[in-house]
Amino acid sequence: MTDRFALVALPLPLATPYTYRIPETLGDRVVPGTRAVVPVRRRELIGLVVGIDTEAPNAAVKDILAVPDAEPALSPALLATSQWIAGYYGAPLGLALKAILPGGMWGESEVIVSLQNGAPSLGGVAGDVVSWLEQRGGEAAVHAAARALRRPLWDVIGRLNRVNAVSLRVHAPDTAAARLTERTLTLAGERPTLIERDTLFKRRPKQRQLYETLESLGGSASMRHLSEQLGFGDGVIRALIKQGLARVGQAELVRDPFAGSPVTVPPAELTKNQSTALAALAALEPGQGAVLFGVTGSGKTLVYLEAVRQALAAGRGAIVLVPEIGLTPQTVSRFRGAFGDEIAVLHSGLSDGERADAWRLLRRGERRVAVGARSAVFAPVANLGLLVIDEEHEASYKNGETPRYHTRDVAAVRARLERARLVLGSATPSAETWARTEGKLTLLRLPERIGDRPLPPVEIIDLRTAPKVGGTGPLAWSVALDSAIVATLARKEQALLLLNRRGYAAFLQCPDCGEVWQCPRCSISLTVHQSPPAMRCHYCGHEEPLPLTCRVCANPVQQMRGVGTQQLERMLVERYPEARIARMDLDTTSTKWSHQRILTAVERGEVDLLIGTQMIAKGLDFPNVTLVGVVDADTGLHLPDFRAGERTFQLLAQVAGRAGRGPKGGRVLVQTRNPSHHALLWAARHDTEGFLRQEREIRESPPYPPTTSLVNLVYSGPDEREVGRRAAGLADWCTGLIDRYQLSITVLGPAPCPLVRIKDRWRWHVLLKGPSESLGRLVRYAARRLKRDGKIRLVIDRDPVSLL
Ligand code: ADP
Ligand code: ZN
Repeated sequence: MTDRFALVALPLPLATPYTYRIPETLGDRVVPGTRAVVPVRRRELIGLVVGIDTEAPNAAVKDILAVPDAEPALSPALLATSQWIAGYYGAPLGLALKAILPGGMWGESEVIVSLQNGAPSLGGVAGDVVSWLEQRGGEAAVHAAARALRRPLWDVIGRLNRVNAVSLRVHAPDTAAARLTERTLTLAGERPTLIERDTLFKRRPKQRQLYETLESLGGSASMRHLSEQLGFGDGVIRALIKQGLARVGQAELVRDPFAGSPVTVPPAELTKNQSTALAALAALEPGQGAVLFGVTGSGKTLVYLEAVRQALAAGRGAIVLVPEIGLTPQTVSRFRGAFGDEIAVLHSGLSDGERADAWRLLRRGERRVAVGARSAVFAPVANLGLLVIDEEHEASYKNGETPRYHTRDVAAVRARLERARLVLGSATPSAETWARTEGKLTLLRLPERIGDRPLPPVEIIDLRTAPKVGGTGPLAWSVALDSAIVATLARKEQALLLLNRRGYAAFLQCPDCGEVWQCPRCSISLTVHQSPPAMRCHYCGHEEPLPLTCRVCANPVQQMRGVGTQQLERMLVERYPEARIARMDLDTTSTKWSHQRILTAVERGEVDLLIGTQMIAKGLDFPNVTLVGVVDADTGLHLPDFRAGERTFQLLAQVAGRAGRGPKGGRVLVQTRNPSHHALLWAARHDTEGFLRQEREIRESPPYPPTTSLVNLVYSGPDEREVGRRAAGLADWCTGLIDRYQLSITVLGPAPCPLVRIKDRWRWHVLLKGPSESLGRLVRYAARRLKRDGKIRLVIDRDPVSLL
């Protein structure tokens, strides 16, 4: 009999999977998608079989050691999806699979062997294994057994497994039961609101830090973790306990932060528009997709819910994707309310082991709906019938590391492979998606808000000429916005104030010599922070104390430019002393579930003014919010990126959509110095289609997506000249290839990236424009030829969402 071989991928950046021999004894179990234990150098790792009966390799190969599962871990459709990702984005297959399969399921995970009831008494090595396991309580890691018995055991254990004397399972390294006995610190008592915290922890910043760390860890953490890894001293821990804010416990439970959250019962009846949209979805050909283009407050969520219900009724499963799960507690609780235990919420707070558990439940069909952010597009929902992408225009749907996949495109591929229906929902669809409604995607509209509520009127305030109130420092504060806030407070209603710039001030400048404080590692100015005070780089996290004098001319007066949310908060506290103010940005929500706390406070009416960055623009549904103020609409308008206008439009339209969702109505005020920018004009008219039409024209020449497709090739490295030289070589290489194969691709560059340095690495890029098919050929070619070498790294970013 001739030898058979299999290709096995590992979660590593290897260009191609490794080949292993399939031992005869495992022949029937090695199929694509199964996990296999394979020797790699001197270790044993769990890999994934991606191909079988491949050609015999030239060199000698090792054997697959074991196949721990009875069923493949990855369905054929998910395996095919990973292959599509690797091919389309020019990524190593191992990394494409790594994006799909949770870390706890392969790589360094262990195989655990357990005795089954009635294990036969055996002689020889098998007998030794059985009695060793009996001594150990019936179960142990295979490698522990092998070490104890001082011999390789895969063979023997494989045989024991085949006669059902033992069972095997793969175990994520972090789910050790031993942690149950650990001492833990758990939050106690009522959670103070943000405002109460300021008093409570006034002179005790360390205690506040501990308190909020505990919150971020789900309300409880092991003492050891707090003291050893996080460096909290005994004193601060004891003080928190003494204040009654925390208590010592025993059991360590990694909590599901959504488990205790309130569920929302959905409205019983669909509106006519919702029914029409739902019927159109049901009429889609399996494998096809639709855009649910519904204005803010039009009830898109209920359409998703009912579509999921129909999929379940047809015996199929569903995936619902949201941009950021921490920001969308309302959507999650609506799904919980509708489907309860059918749902697996995949969120970033899950440990590897919990994620692996959720996977198993979904794979077996014990949970039929997965809700989560980007990576939940890979949830192994059995018999997938529906994929929903809420707020499909969000940039967070693009993965920021290799493989740089876009969730929308992966979802379309998966939907086709599994004959599932795809729904892309948004009030402000992306230009790309909109273009696909001419042919590929069916367009469904929800043109009206629920209950015939009007969209709120939007007033644009030209900061260059509008009357302003005094005493607000560098912050331009129009009389119009000021009186609108005063009136809202008087009526005991709520206002959202959007300022898409966190920190205290965007940068610090010397008024004499003009010097601007830059990050020493990145080509970007440092942001001024006041709570706590520091200069911070928002790219690399570099931090330094606030300077007292200019480092160039020693001038002592430093000027802050570009008001950020912290400064806005300070100003508002002074101007509206009676208002209860909360702030939501990356700095107040760095602990994991802090979004939810702030939003709950708003929902309960404990906050009058909510300040925030783009975080507050998303998906919130608060009927008592009657005013939305955009403090500075221009923060993102002049970024060197062709999507700057689109992003500004989306942000404005989305945040405007938070106003007037209740019977009291609402209004929106937008402060700007660019009142005639098309993004602002169309947003003020709530005219998404008008905006998309004009944006489409703008992107015709010079061509940008959706008129053409893009690939951004970015070289980075520590030496600027070397990086520039390599980028030039890359551009030549591309040009040569394009000539040789007569591809209709334009090469732009090489040029320094707008952010020319990040974390001490210089960055140059070459931008390719052309039809997607031609770019695809070039990407596949480049992925094979262009290897990283030395300290120079190449990133291939196909369909980039940002060119910075
Ligand atoms: P969107 O996501 O389109 O902005 P939502 O799905 O949040 O809108 O719905 C807006 C509000 O309307 C929510 O409070 C929701 O509960 C309510 N709603 C949705 N559909 C209905 C309906 N058919 N009847 C009554 N209320 C509804
Ligand atoms: Zn930096």
